[in-house]
Amino acid sequence: MAQEAGLGVDETGFNAAMEVQRERARKSWVGAGEEERGAPIYRALVEEIGKSQFTGYEHLEEEVTLLAILKGTERVTSAKGGETVDLVFNPSPFYAEGGGQVGDRGTLSSPTALVEINNTVKPVPDLHLHRTKVIQGTITVGERVHVTVDAEARKNAARNHTGTHILHAVLREVLGDHVKQAGSLVAPDRLRFDFYHFSALTEKEIDRIEARVNERIREDAHVETEVMETKDAIATGAMALFGEKYGEKVRVVRVADFSRELCGGTHCHGAGEIGFFKIVKESSVAAGIRRIEALTGPAAYQHVKNQERVLREVSSLLKTRPEEVAQKAERLNSQLQEKDREIERLKSRAAAPASDPLANARKIGPVSLIAEKISPAEIKDIRAQADRLRDRLKSGVIIVGAPDPKGEKVSIVVMVTPDWASRLSASEIVKGIAGLIEGTGGGKPEMAQAGGKRIEKLDAALEQAVQVIETLLAG
Ligand SMILES: [Zn+2]
Repeated sequence: MAQEAGLGVDETGFNAAMEVQRERARKSWVGAGEEERGAPIYRALVEEIGKSQFTGYEHLEEEVTLLAILKGTERVTSAKGGETVDLVFNPSPFYAEGGGQVGDRGTLSSPTALVEINNTVKPVPDLHLHRTKVIQGTITVGERVHVTVDAEARKNAARNHTGTHILHAVLREVLGDHVKQAGSLVAPDRLRFDFYHFSALTEKEIDRIEARVNERIREDAHVETEVMETKDAIATGAMALFGEKYGEKVRVVRVADFSRELCGGTHCHGAGEIGFFKIVKESSVAAGIRRIEALTGPAAYQHVKNQERVLREVSSLLKTRPEEVAQKAERLNSQLQEKDREIERLKSRAAAPASDPLANARKIGPVSLIAEKISPAEIKDIRAQADRLRDRLKSGVIIVGAPDPKGEKVSIVVMVTPDWASRLSASEIVKGIAGLIEGTGGGKPEMAQAGGKRIEKLDAALEQAVQVIETLLAG
């Protein structure tokens, strides 16, 4: 297509960009703060205070000592209301963004201050850094504070994380063992799973996958975690991420006997807690990588409620029941198409008599004549047209002829204005031309008509009228 348009294609550039995208997809599960991994200040902090200990698998609250406050990469000793700072305390019940799961959020409070914890990241492997905003009061390094993870957000993230593991297992079951994780995002409000597969999923496959995940949820399988030797974990067939470096010990998350993955994320205790799983989108990320976006629990329920509301609104607008919306829309559609065609017909009819028929009036001696052939019409419409012409011509002879809409016969109407009717009788004129269309006719001096079978002779008949009128005038 580019060639046809005289354009070139930068294939090398395209391939390079594609490779970068592949690399990005491969890396998306690595700790989010990876680009900051060089920051010496974070490494110095780990040296000074030791490795961060994550207690969030067991509980969501902790009494801790505030060990460091950072403004950007600068260490400060305190922060007050309105300031945005990063905090370090140890241990931390806050999950740090990684393995696709977003970081925990929550609150920090002291007798004098309130702090909003908006995210938790790991800029270097062993440091939990809490991104915060001081809402009120002042916090100071060394003081005792109370930290609480947002339980609702954590619970919903767990639904999405366990849902992601079940989805992964079901994808392999439905599509085949070649399906491997290429990246994932687990947030409290949604989940996204990228995987290697070479074609778009069909609607049937998507339905099957969604149904199967929900079946697993209803079975309410127990979710168990176990820390074990990496080689043992791999030996039991636990899914590991290609290219990821694991330590000697790993955490294995198991859902009944159908899912087993190396994973550090936070999960439901039972699959039933997920409640409901709904796929909302399937798309392509790069060549050979598909993406499924889905919702679980309250978000999935809300999604269905929203769709129900939309359907109700549409059915009320269409004045039909929700079950009959499709048929009704289809019917309206074909009615619209029919009306469009009708409008087109009327438009072309309205545009047709562009020339003024009076301009076509001829003089035969002192008499004005309009002899006109119109598009197929019923006799009453031919008469109406002749009437209109007579009203405009005011003095003279009007002849209008047309085939009927079925194309079976032809009719001619002759009208003569009263001032000429005594010398040029309409019925005489009709008699003079009806023979040509193999028809018969008659009428009165001011109006007469004829019908015949020879449609193709209509032009000749109209022309013949000139001679008939000349003869009558001469007589
Ligand atoms: Zn996981």
